[in-house]
Amino acid sequence: MSQRGNGVMETDARRLEIDRTRMAEDLRGVVAGDVIFDDAGRSLYSTDASLFRLPPLGVVRPRSVEDVAATLEWASRNGVPVHPRGAGTGLAGDALGSGVILDCSRHLRRIIRTADETVCVQPGVTCRQLEAHLAAVGRCFGPDPANAAVTTLGGMIGRNTSGSRFPLYGAVRDRIVSAEVVLSDGTVTELRPTAVTNWGNAEGLTADAARRATLARGIAAVHGAAQDELASWAASGRLVHGGYRLDGVVCPPISDGAATLIDLPRLLAGSSGSLAVVTTVTLKTRPTVAGAAVGLFFFDSLERAAAAALRLQPLVPAACDLFDKRHLALSRSASPTFERLIPALAEAGLLVEFAGDDQAGCQRQLDDAVELMRRSRFHCIDVRRAEVAADVELFWQLSRTVVSTLHGVRGTVRPVQFMEDVVIPPGQLPAFLERYQDVLKRHSATALLYAHAGHGQLHVRPFADPRRSGERERLEALAADLVGEVVRLDGTIGGEQGLGLSRTRFFAEHFPGQVSVCREIKRLFDPAGLLNPGKIVPAAAESRPAWRQLPQTFPESVGLPLLNWTPEALAAEVDACNGCGACRADAGPLRMCPRFRESPGEEWSPRAKANLVAGLLGGEVDPQAAGMEAARAIADTCFNCHQCRVDCAAGVDIPALVTELKAAVVAAEGLRWTPWLLARVDRLSALGGRLRPLSNWALTNPQARWLLERLLGIAQGRRLPRFTGNAFLRWAARRGLTRPSRRAGPRVLFFLDTFARRHDPLVARSLVALLERSGVGVFIDPRQVASGIAAISVGDLDLARRLARRNLRVLTEAVRLGYEIIATEPAAVTAIQHDYPLLLDDEELPRVVAATRHATDYLWELQQEGRLVGGFEPLPQRLLYHQPCHLRQHGGGQRTAGLLRLIPNLSLDTRPTGCSGMAGTFGLDHDHYRTSLRIGRTLLTAVREPELTGGVTECSACRLQMEQATSKQTLHPVVLLAIAAGLAPKDALSGDNLRPATAAGRVATVPAAEG
Ligand SMILES: Cc1cc2nc3c(=O)[nH]c(=O)nc-3n(C[C@H](O)[C@H](O)[C@H](O)COP(=O)(O)OP(=O)(O)OC[C@H]3O[C@@H](n4cnc5c(N)ncnc54)[C@H](O)[C@@H]3O)c2cc1C
Repeated sequence: MSQRGNGVMETDARRLEIDRTRMAEDLRGVVAGDVIFDDAGRSLYSTDASLFRLPPLGVVRPRSVEDVAATLEWASRNGVPVHPRGAGTGLAGDALGSGVILDCSRHLRRIIRTADETVCVQPGVTCRQLEAHLAAVGRCFGPDPANAAVTTLGGMIGRNTSGSRFPLYGAVRDRIVSAEVVLSDGTVTELRPTAVTNWGNAEGLTADAARRATLARGIAAVHGAAQDELASWAASGRLVHGGYRLDGVVCPPISDGAATLIDLPRLLAGSSGSLAVVTTVTLKTRPTVAGAAVGLFFFDSLERAAAAALRLQPLVPAACDLFDKRHLALSRSASPTFERLIPALAEAGLLVEFAGDDQAGCQRQLDDAVELMRRSRFHCIDVRRAEVAADVELFWQLSRTVVSTLHGVRGTVRPVQFMEDVVIPPGQLPAFLERYQDVLKRHSATALLYAHAGHGQLHVRPFADPRRSGERERLEALAADLVGEVVRLDGTIGGEQGLGLSRTRFFAEHFPGQVSVCREIKRLFDPAGLLNPGKIVPAAAESRPAWRQLPQTFPESVGLPLLNWTPEALAAEVDACNGCGACRADAGPLRMCPRFRESPGEEWSPRAKANLVAGLLGGEVDPQAAGMEAARAIADTCFNCHQCRVDCAAGVDIPALVTELKAAVVAAEGLRWTPWLLARVDRLSALGGRLRPLSNWALTNPQARWLLERLLGIAQGRRLPRFTGNAFLRWAARRGLTRPSRRAGPRVLFFLDTFARRHDPLVARSLVALLERSGVGVFIDPRQVASGIAAISVGDLDLARRLARRNLRVLTEAVRLGYEIIATEPAAVTAIQHDYPLLLDDEELPRVVAATRHATDYLWELQQEGRLVGGFEPLPQRLLYHQPCHLRQHGGGQRTAGLLRLIPNLSLDTRPTGCSGMAGTFGLDHDHYRTSLRIGRTLLTAVREPELTGGVTECSACRLQMEQATSKQTLHPVVLLAIAAGLAPKDALSGDNLRPATAAGRVATVPAAEG
């Protein structure tokens, strides 16, 4: 590029920047919601679950219909396109665009009204939130997408979403009664079925009614003019799916003299946000279906499974999902349960569900299906019936996790979400499969196929490496061929997942007649073409948005990576996030992401962090400009609980990406005071220990706590643990534990970390006692220092590295001498196993990592090998066990529960209670104190239940939190085991020697969840 060329580009970029700043200011003047026009914020909205990356001009997150109207009015005055967005989980790039993204998922999340047979909601309500609300009154909405925990009603309308149970529930278009919408010029109107009258003008009508009447008349006219086109579709028997659908929208007069009725709200379903923005919608509900019988049928070929699916249709299954062998293989390798469930020889499988109010009747239908398969020649090699509710859940997992399982495939070549989503008349399934195989052969491609076989909805994912040059062209050619075959079989495209950026051009190519009808409809609603242009109706200037692809080299100014991995490894980690948005789930069974659940905005989601790093690496976010400040705010929404790493199907190491981000911010701007201090919590604890008893007095003195909050930022209301100084290490030294153990047999190095060392010697002493009684030699090397997890959590890499290096010397020596390393603090294990390899490049590290585990896991192994000397006495307690986040990633928790169940009369409540909200030092911080209590609400409410006598958990921070909001004791499991074994004083169960000192002598109230 010439110098002049560079200069011109810089001037353009500068002008764009100024324009953007001005636009953001304009919008802030008219919108009460969030206006995000900075590079970092925009980068979070550049992707969805598709292959595309398209940075928007900016983002508006409306708080009300007025905000939506003001944004659209502003956009129409300025000629700026607007793209409505829900959770951003579309697979075809439906919610992406270069204009202003209107994110309805952040603030418009209210269920407004529930009537006997309808419910009125805002567009940001998630499908699962709605279903949970309706289930309480014995009703349901119906359409059941696999990602119900994430997908929003706005997005479901935009996509006309359906799911496996389409034969039972239909799609969203069957369930819309009316909708309040904002049209492209900013007019708010209520869309409902509207009669086509012969009014010459709008006299006597309200503006709203006049607008509706005009739209209804317009649709009637388009419909009238398109008779030939529509008739040809009907004659071909082609299923109408993609595009704006007029079937069922234009309802002929039901009697003489009656008017034609136009079901305007129904037209919204599947319109991809390109006709109007929905601000509230009234939906039909239906009674929940009481009974269901589910079976899994396995076959020796895909073709035979498809034929069997057709043969089963007369039995009217509520769902009939078809899996190919690749999906079955991926599922088998993903989980031992599926490995047992799915026969290794199976080439295809069918999940069949019969549903109805009569459970026995459903079972009989399933009997018939099994019998039919037995008698017919479909080579059904195995049948599994769901006998109990847990089986039903498990079988459905196979179907519901299809997309996430696919997203979980890591590596350069993986199944890509580009050309999937074709619809064929179900009877054509066998013919389609033949042609599908031929197309794949012609292109030397492999693909994965998953289908709702009963209604001919197929998802095809070719294996490809989107980063390889020429791959896009190869995939586009493959897609073109496949679409051609679909069309020849009277099928269509974009049934469930829309046309979006992936398929609009194929739609225009193969269905020009249909597209002209759509163009007329678009013109009626959005004459200027500003609402989500380029979806369904091709945009005037056909654009070809980029695929999400990181450059081979990163801008030097970015300065990443700062951790111990290559730029390629960092890029691969970013690349592994496919944007499926599962981390935006607002409820279980997954635990990620506690912070998103508390503040459901895109920047709080784990995937936002991957998008932000992608923005930095791709040069969209300039670290030199205001980018770093915005990056800090986004990175700070993560408190390093690692739940996303555990729950993400692709196992994306978001915590590592966040550490990169935080470290980059620290490198650019330095550390702020409170994070600097919290990174040094071990030093603070040591100092507190030296200043005893003054420091312990200060913990409970309101004035001293006030001062502590002002000076150090440590929340005044937080109960803090007493300082015990070096009491434990002195005790250990007296017993000779601070020298290498001379015992023969198994030996462990006890890695103490801060809490056991400086606040709660009983935990450490209990563990030592249990181990020694079982004949295990214990060594507590006094040279060990804090694990450094607190420093890692704030991005203070210098301190984290110093601590890691000192510990590594100690741990390496011990491992060489044959010690195993154990810790009572789950976060310390995480630091050693996950973070040290990212901090240090040391060839001894893998051995140290392999030798490290949590103390309860070690005790469980002893027990399994019959070497744990217990002799546990009864402890008549009813305790709530809380599985700490950092233990969950090591698969711990169940083993702890197993150990505790060795104690007679101890009743353990192991219900899932989510994250405690404490997250190490996060909940200590004055700025986060109430947020932390809100996040831990489920746990804190549970532990308060009168039947429970207390709590038990391994994590010291979670213990602080559990004791914060109740007067009950929470103990470490090793203490309970030691008490039951007679190795620790029984009064620890009720005494206050372990209890954290109270700040103000009060139990905290748990703040209500934010609205
Ligand atoms: C793991 C996974 C599983 C999936 N499973 C299914 C499935 O089983 N069935 C299925 O049909 N799809 C499925 N999908 C595809 C997709 O997620 C769904 O179609 C989903 O309903 C989209 O919802 P969303 O909230 O993410 O919407 P977005 O992707 O944000 O938006 C979708 C469309 O709706 C429009 N829109 C959003 N809000 C509004 C509004 N307020 N007013 C007007 N238009 C609006 C957008 O402009 C866009 O065109 C799946 C996707 C993933 C990643």
